Amino acid sequence: MAETIYDVAIIGSGPGGYTAAIRAGQLGLKPCLIEKNEKLGGTCLQVGCIPTKSLLFNAEIYDHMKAGKDFGIEGLDGAKLNWTTIQDRKNKIVQKHTKGLEFLMRKNKVEVMKGYGRLTGPRKDGVLTVEVQGGSSIKAKNVILATGSEAKMLPGLEPDDRLLTNIEILSLKAIPKSLVVVGAGAVGVEFASIYKSFDCDVTILEMLPRLVPLEDEDISKELMRAFNKRGIKSFVGTKVEKIEKTKTGIAVTFTPPDGKQQKLEAEKILIAVGRAPNTANVGLEKTKIKPERGFVHTDGWMETEEPGIYAVGDIIAGFPQLAHVAFMQGMVAVAHIAGKPARPLNRNRIPNCTYCEPQISSVGMTEAVARQTGREVKIGKFPFSANSKASIVGSHEGFVKVVADAKYGEVLGVHIIGPQATEMIAEAVVALEMEATVDDLMFTIHPHPTLSEAMFDGIESVYGLSINI
Ligand SMILES: Cc1cc2nc3c(=O)[nH]c(=O)nc-3n(C[C@H](O)[C@H](O)[C@H](O)COP(=O)(O)OP(=O)(O)OC[C@H]3O[C@@H](n4cnc5c(N)ncnc54)[C@H](O)[C@@H]3O)c2cc1C
Repeated sequence: MAETIYDVAIIGSGPGGYTAAIRAGQLGLKPCLIEKNEKLGGTCLQVGCIPTKSLLFNAEIYDHMKAGKDFGIEGLDGAKLNWTTIQDRKNKIVQKHTKGLEFLMRKNKVEVMKGYGRLTGPRKDGVLTVEVQGGSSIKAKNVILATGSEAKMLPGLEPDDRLLTNIEILSLKAIPKSLVVVGAGAVGVEFASIYKSFDCDVTILEMLPRLVPLEDEDISKELMRAFNKRGIKSFVGTKVEKIEKTKTGIAVTFTPPDGKQQKLEAEKILIAVGRAPNTANVGLEKTKIKPERGFVHTDGWMETEEPGIYAVGDIIAGFPQLAHVAFMQGMVAVAHIAGKPARPLNRNRIPNCTYCEPQISSVGMTEAVARQTGREVKIGKFPFSANSKASIVGSHEGFVKVVADAKYGEVLGVHIIGPQATEMIAEAVVALEMEATVDDLMFTIHPHPTLSEAMFDGIESVYGLSINI
């Protein structure tokens, strides 16, 4: 029998890989998906986006229950968390969607192969070969590398039951009494928020001068204020000097900006200092691909320096490591392979979402970046405290901040901190995608009473015309 030659072999079944595989099937290509783990879905489904958001939802419900009296609901004092049920619920959600992916692979005629995939070199006679450990090698006209990333550890340390990464912290046997979080990016502040809601004593240590350092400065300030109010202790501009085991837990020595070294003991420490791309052992050296600190460069169609080898997701240089970035890159790569229309990703139109309490989302330029471009900038800002729906849901923290070009009114960036911020940002993404102006949005009717009206008021406040402040 003639050997199968796939149109595309995809290495890695996270959001980048599985989206590429499904879209390839939809477009009539013959795809093969190679995954080293037992389960499909990658970081996002197994140990990232989905399980964390499941815990965050428990945290949200529990916080509402603790505030029950304010809503006139009595008898909720002393509500207890059942950690086993919380964990089971999270695991069932992950299992359900893992099964869903398996179904989608069958539906779209994607051949799934379990094993570690590695490139063997450039195309020969128009065909690339991928060696699959534990199986045979396969041949394909194109390959998409979607091998994702792994949590970085501090030098010389290995994760265990007290020193945690995103993997261990998701399956703790009990809620710890105290937790130190090293790193205040999205992963760090989400876990800090979850465990604080679960009545754990949480301290954040961040080396850079502010929490969520990639967000607009006003957002970082507001998060710091909100976290302080919640009792989450945050040290920014702080260097971790040493981490050591103690009899009962783990201790961290750190130097805050005042230079006075401190030592803090906790039951657990989460290390959330970024994620390294999984590209060290996938055969890049046998190709023309020249990674930079492990990250792969591509053109707008996600094709690398090596013809026929594409790359998507967390391994791509210059893009944020987010599931929705990986999804879109997977779709662009496959459309290009299939000769179908697609658009390269615009780095400036990618929404960032952090699902802590209060939630954060943003798209486009921060105020500082917009000013650095040399243009004249106008700012609109609207607090949720003046939004009627925010009062109804009892969540007044935060604001919507709009960064606009003063001359033409183009919306350059939108930054939200507050209730449902991660849902609200989609409108701003469409606005930027359509190159909408402040005037376009000022005459776009928003339903009342909704949180999305805060976006409308934020837009109007660019011209000092918000009706509600
Ligand atoms: C705690 C946490 C929460 C997060 N929350 C969010 C969120 O809410 N929203 C969001 O947008 N992003 C979130 N992210 C980021 C998101 O998970 C990643 O951006 C996304 O998973 C990247 O997708 P990917 O396809 O590039 O790689 P991954 O999801 O990492 O998948 C890569 C897959 O490739 C497999 N693999 C690797 N090497 C090989 C090989 N050689 N052969 C075969 N298989 C291989 C791996 O086993 C894995 O299954 C979160 C991340 C973490 C850690």
